[in-house]
Amino acid sequence: MDKRKVESYKKLLLAKQEEVRRMVARSEQDGREADGEVTQDLADRAANSYTKEFLFHQSNDNRRILQLISDALNRVDNGSYGHCVECQQDVQKKRLEAVPWARHCIECQEKQEKGLL
Ligand SMILES: [Zn+2]
Repeated sequence: MDKRKVESYKKLLLAKQEEVRRMVARSEQDGREADGEVTQDLADRAANSYTKEFLFHQSNDNRRILQLISDALNRVDNGSYGHCVECQQDVQKKRLEAVPWARHCIECQEKQEKGLL
């Protein structure tokens, strides 16, 4: 992949990293607020635990994405960005535009989803 193209993906990755970091900080804050609320009745407590559960899963997903983004930035630095980590082929442009931290090309991603990798 040419350097200019890699730079443009790097910008996307950095912007996304910033956005996800803010979301993680925000949901940690919401989780603490949900904890801090004095809730009396069972319905409130149920809603509160639902909120915490939801935030917990959301921030787990976000942390996973942050990890994938930082892996992708490492691949930008070592020059392997844009190649499938499995088959070493170029990852499709459309796929990188949709998911700039993608590690796999579409074929390998599909295999992975089916449990074949
Ligand atoms: Zn592949």
